[in-house]
Amino acid sequence: MAKNILHCSFCGRSRDEVKILIAGQEGHICENCVEHAREIIDQELLVRDDKPANPSTFKLTVKKPVEVKKFLDEYVIGQDEAKKVLSVAVYNHYKRLQYKNDHAGSDIEIEKSNIVMVGETGTGKTLLAKTIAKLLNVPFTIVDATVFTEAGYVGEDVESILTRLLQVCNYDVASAERGIVYIDEIDKIARKGDNPSITRDVSGEGVQQGMLKLLEGTDVLVPPQGGRKHPEQKLIKINTQNILFICGGAFDGIDKIIARRVQTNTIGFNVDKLLQENMKKNLLRYINAQDLKSFGLIPELLGRLPVVTHLDPLDASTLRAILVEPKNALIKQYKRLFELEGIELMIEDEVLDFMVEKAVDYKLGARGLRSICESILTDAMFEMPSSKEKFFTLDLDYAKRKFDKSKLSLLKVA
Ligand code: ADP
Repeated sequence: MAKNILHCSFCGRSRDEVKILIAGQEGHICENCVEHAREIIDQELLVRDDKPANPSTFKLTVKKPVEVKKFLDEYVIGQDEAKKVLSVAVYNHYKRLQYKNDHAGSDIEIEKSNIVMVGETGTGKTLLAKTIAKLLNVPFTIVDATVFTEAGYVGEDVESILTRLLQVCNYDVASAERGIVYIDEIDKIARKGDNPSITRDVSGEGVQQGMLKLLEGTDVLVPPQGGRKHPEQKLIKINTQNILFICGGAFDGIDKIIARRVQTNTIGFNVDKLLQENMKKNLLRYINAQDLKSFGLIPELLGRLPVVTHLDPLDASTLRAILVEPKNALIKQYKRLFELEGIELMIEDEVLDFMVEKAVDYKLGARGLRSICESILTDAMFEMPSSKEKFFTLDLDYAKRKFDKSKLSLLKVA
């Protein structure tokens, strides 16, 4: 009887102990062993797969900077300077790769220009990065600097930034070496105090030092599954010379540093009052590497991030535009949701103004616009699918009533 029970020929488990048993010519294999085999294959291929890039297969298909910016304009409102800087950076990235391809061994090497974007939270840094990603045909990944800590502490090794890049291109090392990485929240690894030697700054300077190695353009050994490197692990070698790094952060409080610098620079000059007022409105416009250093980024790292750009704070008119203009603007999304129910949603202009006013009042920024829309439209979205109505007009009165009833209205800051 026992002879007739099928077993996995690899682990010996019987039919009852496994979910799936796949039959081969002479034996069987269970789902556990398939999984296990797959892991072994992945690991082996990873380590062997450090074949050199195949230059002939690489084609430059990126748009010109003006076209890249136009594409960004479809999704991101304002932020012209950052868009221009990014468009040029991405275009040059492609050109450099192409140049390397066509002029191997040339005496002039075009170096990359990694970028730092500084802008308050919710002003579109990640959105810019994500939108750029839509356009690219090189691997692109977004990582968060806050998960990394110095080797030996709880957290991830800095090298696992490259693990993500490897993962998006299916562990093809040659592709990863042409990729672009967006590192978010770079400000969170700033040095905390002015004197780093008194207390060890686990999450700050150590991580910056680690990151230096990546940005520098050397061979880096990367753990294939991310996390912490450990001794028995097989590591993958990646050369970061052609990987473009774009960093972003809010750098809370940096406006004060800029103000101090700008002020000291202008002492003794009779600076126009109006100009001074204008400068105060958006100090980020004047940001430079010196300010980032005062904030706590180490000079060596800044040396590898030669381009510094900023994002403007969002004013009411920008928030209004964000509601309706981008290709996948919130209002367009809600209209489509209603349309799918066979209902035409009309939103009065005053309602849009009201939403923006609340986002400003409650300091919710662009991210808050969605919660405001939800708080106003949830009841309608609940009821409409069961009703026979073909139209729904959202007027100011309705919007106010729903908003006041919502939890959001309790958030008001004094
Ligand atoms: P950050 O990375 O700067 O903190 P995000 O890019 O994540 O901010 O922005 C949060 C959300 O706010 C985005 O998903 C988007 O919906 C909206 N948003 C922010 N800024 C803009 C902008 N300039 N244009 C269009 N939408 C924006």
